[in-house]
Formats: sequence, C-alpha cells, structure tokens
Amino acid sequence: MPRCPYCGSEINSIKYEEVIGGGIRVYELTLNKDENNIDYHLLRENVIITEKRYKCPICEKDLIDVISDLGDVIRFLRGNTNSK
Ligand SMILES: [Zn+2]
Repeated sequence: MPRCPYCGSEINSIKYEEVIGGGIRVYELTLNKDENNIDYHLLRENVIITEKRYKCPICEKDLIDVISDLGDVIRFLRGNTNSK
C-alpha cells in the first residue's frame, strides 16, 4: 500500500477537495416515497472550479509534489509513486 511522503501512514485513498469559484447546479425536486422529504435530481451543472487539492486523508498535507491530476492519483494508489 502506498505511504504518505509526509506522515508515513499507509493510505488507500486520497482526500480530494474542489474549490468552487462560481457557477450553477439545477435540480428537479420531487417528494420521496414516504412523502416526508425531498429527492434531489441533478439536471444540469456548470460549476467553475478554481482549485483542486489532493491531500493525505490522515495528516491532511497537500500532496501537490506527488499528485497533480487524476492520473497521478491512480499511479499513487497503485503504489507507483516514482513513475511520474
Ligand atoms: Zn500524511
């Protein structure tokens, strides 16, 4: 299992954060089966992401030196941290 280069913990996931700078999500709202709550159905989304952060789930350090996109996440979680 890959290890966080900062805290040394074995990790099998990455904490992924998207900073949203604006945009819109459009939903259709309907009653749920029991008619006591609302179901949200996402119809359309046009969200402006201004920053993406890939973090260690244990120590929360930003892994920007190791991971800069989803391909890096796959390589890292497979354990191929040196093949960037
Ligand atoms: Zn860590």
